Amino acid sequence: MSETGASAPIRASEALRKKLAKIGLHREADLLVHLPLRYEDETRVTPVAAAGGGEPRQVEVVVRSNEVQFRPRRQMVVRAADDSGEIVLRFFSFYGSQQAALAEGTRIRAFGEVRGGFFGAEMVHPRFRRVVEGDPLPAELTPIYPSTAGLANSALQKLIGTALAGADLADTLPDDLRRRLGLPELARSLRFLHAPPPGTALDALHARNHPAWQRVKFDEVLAQQLSLRRAYLARRAQGAPVLVARDDLGARLLDSLPFGLTGAQARAMAEIGSDLAQPHPMQRLLQGDVGAGKTIVAALAACQAISAGWQAAFMAPTEILAEQHYLKLVGWLEPLGVKVAWLSGSLRSKAKRAQLAAAAADAQLVVGTHALIQEGVDFARLGLAIVDEQHRFGVAQRLALRKKGDNPHQLMMSATPIPRTLAMSYYADLDVTVLDELPPGRTPVRTRLVADGRRGDVVGFVGQHVAEGRQAYWVCPLIEESETLQLQTAEETFATLAAELSGLTVGLVHGRLKADEKQAVMAAFAAGQIDVLVATTVIEVGVDVPNASLMVIEHAERFGLSQLHQLRGRVGRGAHESSCILLYAGPLGETARERLKVIYENSDGFEIARRDLQLRGPGEFVGSRQSGVPLLRYADLELDADLVEMARGVAETMLTEHPELAERHLQRWLGSREELLKS
Ligand code: ADP
Ligand code: MG
Repeated sequence: MSETGASAPIRASEALRKKLAKIGLHREADLLVHLPLRYEDETRVTPVAAAGGGEPRQVEVVVRSNEVQFRPRRQMVVRAADDSGEIVLRFFSFYGSQQAALAEGTRIRAFGEVRGGFFGAEMVHPRFRRVVEGDPLPAELTPIYPSTAGLANSALQKLIGTALAGADLADTLPDDLRRRLGLPELARSLRFLHAPPPGTALDALHARNHPAWQRVKFDEVLAQQLSLRRAYLARRAQGAPVLVARDDLGARLLDSLPFGLTGAQARAMAEIGSDLAQPHPMQRLLQGDVGAGKTIVAALAACQAISAGWQAAFMAPTEILAEQHYLKLVGWLEPLGVKVAWLSGSLRSKAKRAQLAAAAADAQLVVGTHALIQEGVDFARLGLAIVDEQHRFGVAQRLALRKKGDNPHQLMMSATPIPRTLAMSYYADLDVTVLDELPPGRTPVRTRLVADGRRGDVVGFVGQHVAEGRQAYWVCPLIEESETLQLQTAEETFATLAAELSGLTVGLVHGRLKADEKQAVMAAFAAGQIDVLVATTVIEVGVDVPNASLMVIEHAERFGLSQLHQLRGRVGRGAHESSCILLYAGPLGETARERLKVIYENSDGFEIARRDLQLRGPGEFVGSRQSGVPLLRYADLELDADLVEMARGVAETMLTEHPELAERHLQRWLGSREELLKS
């Protein structure tokens, strides 16, 4: 399916090809879309005396001397001059060949920013070329390409020029569609960007909002959308067990609850229920802010699978959370006659054997951690795989759970709300259900920022809070670099607080505790036997103790935004007014200050996520593979949101109405880059 020569490897020497490969250039077609970072105007020469002023200039000078100096550091210092004055060209890294090329008496044109140095005008690392007097100036602007060490811009320019001359740049957008989108032709856009005519205003080009750039970015985003969408459709086309309830298990679960579903929960369940009844695997993400009530929706989905005669698996990222789910699900479902199994890494071998046997035989629901996807875990009839806090798992792990059955349905859950623009590419291979309503009776959490110096007051406040019959979390500072140090800090905090709050029961939970110890602490806290729970971020996700209505986070400035939001979500779950105290130690860096401000001012998870995206960028936000970002070089998911939206619709129609154009489009823009998504 290749256009003429598009997938042909680049014709160049072995050595050159290696360098090109370093910057992702393998095929002739890759050269066409390797676009300039910026342009330099070498169509004019400026006299040295007039070349200052901050703008990059071209001067034409004759080398007077060239020496390598070693102080203050190794450098090549070239003195050169024209009729108007002298200039120093300074190189801190250079090859022997460059030294030879700049021998005394050589005439060169050098391009760069001229600064008034101590010894007069100077350029640092200018681009230069040797000329003879009267050599014609280039007629066009010089495109400056992204490159790598030892790969000259002029070499790239030449290769790309040749590729462009022989290329088939036939448009992959049908003409009428292209006009409707208000985009210029691709061939024109690419030729223009590689070689804009002299006199072109460089601002729009450098800012990349010129129509030619719009076209390029659109094409790139379209390729990304096509790729993700195609993967989604391929999976949709497979068969899956049809999960139609054969009894009233779900209804009985609902009847047994002390609350009714919110409208959002009921809508979500209706969507999921109808997906499960299809003969194709569901790939749905249930997204809802912290505390929105995702667990019960998942339990109802599990009921549908169970009642259809299949098994459901429920995987959570931490032992504490998995355990809590297990206890909750057992409490809900065992009275209704459902057999629930439990798998975690810390099970002793005898218990583990029993649970494994259950999963392979008559267990109807299997709850656990990553232990669920280990080798040796077999399911009798896995029909539905549920993954809680799915962003905590890697692609491979989610896939591994799916592989435990014969194409089971998949329900993923996340409390990390992904901003809409990012969601369009992150979730292009998923259907999304949003729980946009919190259960009634939630009290907003009062957030306070308190400087470290007032820690004593805060301890007093905790004591008062407990005296009113409620409980508190005290979250220890995050020490990312060292788990040992983290643990040590947690133990110290625990000891200090226990002393400061004598008379109260203070508990400690952290990641290094054995599973049964963790469980015992969490159970005691849930039962109200512990007043103040000192904890590391192990309590970050999912933990649900409604009577705990105060949270103190020490060194809040060290935490990420989504972490703070998740942590804060542990309180505000009961009828009492809740507070979250963020203790911080100055002086604060700019991002830390910004993060604290965002968390202080906002309680809406979506808004916080949007700000987080701005602060961190999409790659870090959801993990770079998931964001589909490896596929994007020119477009920016946030800045070019309108293009993403346009491309999403076009991808849909293109795949069904013009599959051959879609294929060519993908070839042109992605080629081998699509592999990036699979790693
Ligand atoms: P999350 O979406 O963060 O996973 P959970 O499923 O842990 O939220 O639910 C948070 C709390 O809200 C739990 O105690 C749960 O039992 C309760 N809850 C869920 N749905 C409702 C509802 N419709 N009405 C009242 N409480 C509910
Ligand atoms: Mg949850």
